[in-house]
Amino acid sequence: MDATKKQDVRIGFYICHCGSNIAAMVDCPAVARYVEKLPGVVLSRDYKYMCSDPGQELIQKDIKEHQLDRVVVASCSPLLHEHTFRAAVEAGGLNPFFFHMVNIREHDSWVHTNKVEATEKAKALAHAAIQRVAKHKSLEVKKVPIHPDVLVVGGGIAGIHAAMTMANAGKKVYLVEREPSIGGHMAKFDKTFPTLDCAACILTPKMSEVGSHPNITLLTYSEVAKMDGYVGNYTVTVKRKPRYVIEDQCTGCQECIANCVYKEPKFHDEFNEGLGKRKPVYIPFPQATPQVVAIDPKVCLNFRNGVLTDKCKKSCVTACGEKKAIDFTQQETVQDIKVGTIIVTTGFKTFDAKRVPQYGYGKFPNVYTALEIERLVNASGPTAGHVVMRDGREPKSIGIIHCVGSRDKKTNRWCSRVCCMYSMKLAHLLKEHTGAEIYSFYIDMRTPGKGYEEFYDKLLEEGVHFIRGRVGEVTDWAMSPEEEGKLVIRVEDTLAGYVRRIPFDMVVLATGMEPQADAQDVRRMFNMSCGSEGFFLERHPKLAPVSTFTEGIFIAGACQGPRDIPDTVAQAGAAAAEALALIDKGHIEQEPNTAFILDDECCGCKSCIPLCPYTAITFDESKKKATINEALCKGCGTCVAACPSGSIVQNLFDDEEIFSEIDGVLAHD
Ligand SMILES: Cc1cc2nc3c(=O)[nH]c(=O)nc-3n(C[C@H](O)[C@H](O)[C@H](O)COP(=O)(O)OP(=O)(O)OC[C@H]3O[C@@H](n4cnc5c(N)ncnc54)[C@H](O)[C@@H]3O)c2cc1C
Repeated sequence: MDATKKQDVRIGFYICHCGSNIAAMVDCPAVARYVEKLPGVVLSRDYKYMCSDPGQELIQKDIKEHQLDRVVVASCSPLLHEHTFRAAVEAGGLNPFFFHMVNIREHDSWVHTNKVEATEKAKALAHAAIQRVAKHKSLEVKKVPIHPDVLVVGGGIAGIHAAMTMANAGKKVYLVEREPSIGGHMAKFDKTFPTLDCAACILTPKMSEVGSHPNITLLTYSEVAKMDGYVGNYTVTVKRKPRYVIEDQCTGCQECIANCVYKEPKFHDEFNEGLGKRKPVYIPFPQATPQVVAIDPKVCLNFRNGVLTDKCKKSCVTACGEKKAIDFTQQETVQDIKVGTIIVTTGFKTFDAKRVPQYGYGKFPNVYTALEIERLVNASGPTAGHVVMRDGREPKSIGIIHCVGSRDKKTNRWCSRVCCMYSMKLAHLLKEHTGAEIYSFYIDMRTPGKGYEEFYDKLLEEGVHFIRGRVGEVTDWAMSPEEEGKLVIRVEDTLAGYVRRIPFDMVVLATGMEPQADAQDVRRMFNMSCGSEGFFLERHPKLAPVSTFTEGIFIAGACQGPRDIPDTVAQAGAAAAEALALIDKGHIEQEPNTAFILDDECCGCKSCIPLCPYTAITFDESKKKATINEALCKGCGTCVAACPSGSIVQNLFDDEEIFSEIDGVLAHD
């Protein structure tokens, strides 16, 4: 059966040499001559670069001079140039969907070594496209207006930078952070590598700007519970946990903390990694934004098992006085927000050092994680910057073990990118604070950043010892008098070529970066994908590094993979720029390759509904039929294949088009 025989179509065919990419393996003129004789084909040409301006002009000229009403281009992947050629066809005066593209580069010339066979394959693919394009229908690109407001999820340095960039450009931004304060991991650091500039000095001004920016609505202690809608028109439900403090009325005077019935801090202090204690009413850290206290119902005497008991004499309320900021009756609230674009910046968590039991974390009190050391060396930390160990001594010798939970097939295969650098930063700070002898145990030293290799040189000059080799174990088992009462690191020194035992007072584990524990939930909520290691997946690692597969949703920072602050900030700026470009365009153009339901044939079985990965299908109870939201449909075709009554059709992929294509490819022998 030849589809074109029954059609009165005038097809123009173009085969591209792509320099020698295609022409070296496919005889392009021979394919053009073959196609010329097919029914419906008015002209058939081969050309060196069809995507070039002259190539596109050729198509436009031919459409006009030869009254073409269909165009086929055989060249590279449609991913690269389908839009280019559709635009050329439209500029020639045709509906852009009267066009079909054949990939004879990735699917043919690049994967074959026999020119005769590759040429025959190109002819078969071209024949298929000619038969298919004859069945193409005129379609329209729809324009959907875009809401100008933006949601940023996660208030670490990535979220802060993205929110500020958008807000300074005049956009209204909602910044949702699940902790009582923004700041993320950076807020815990004393200094940042490689410049050793004070983290608080560079972060705090940005945090207060966010807190007071007229275009930013800061929603701390909050999480996104649900997202509905589609690019340009998202409705996001934000759940706000009760702080038991009215934000607008709290001045951050902290009188309530001073007057709490607990005279001394007694409870686990998350911000200080458990190295310090806090009261039930607390502010996470001095520069917290907003400067508003929170009450922890798990430990406050006024609650039992989270339920209000009114058993405490509530001296915090008395201390708050006329401000009346404390409200024990506060409940969780939900709020719906309408936005056009979303930037997800939910960051990372550090590897749990207990998963490598041979390094003794949790067993030996003087084994610390790097994040704990960040707090110990910090002037606003639990020891006001004095490095004293859990046993009260100041360390005289410290071993830092790199790659804990990184570059290890048993835990995480990836390199966490920042551990070499932050280990050196901590080596410098620990030396500065204690004058201790410091050894760093590394697999490879990775310092690929501006000023990073120079920082390594500086540490060598400071007398830090670097030993190349993966540490086997940390033990308290002494084999000699000098090991008595010490932690001993056993390592194969791969440069010296023998196994060493080195005793230390303190051991620091440079734990790697991992996806957040709830990354899969967040991924599902925002219709994103995760890579095999669990970080959010970008649309293209080189060409679309901050876009996701869901339009209008962008990612930035360590939620996409391990990275340092400079890279995080650069990426956050890029995500904001992409979101701005979308908003300022004012509308979204939607591909018409969507699916639709033939109402007369739908039996209402609902089998398509749970299969749709974009939640685009709902059930219309009044009609007892499924219905597809065109704006949400991405044209994946899952529902079309699954529909038992064949009542779902997809534009550009209807049965007639597909069967004609199959006939075409089989027609060539
Ligand atoms: C020990 C250590 C030391 C380091 N030192 C340096 C250094 O000196 N210099 C340097 O350049 N880099 C350093 N880094 C790397 C640096 O921490 C990261 O580059 C940076 O924190 C990434 O920022 P982020 O905003 O992407 O993520 P994060 O800092 O993790 O911030 C993410 C934020 O999102 C919030 N969040 C998470 N999930 C949700 C949710 N579902 N809803 C709402 N909010 C959510 C979190 O509470 C957090 O506030 C270090 C890393 C470590 C582990």
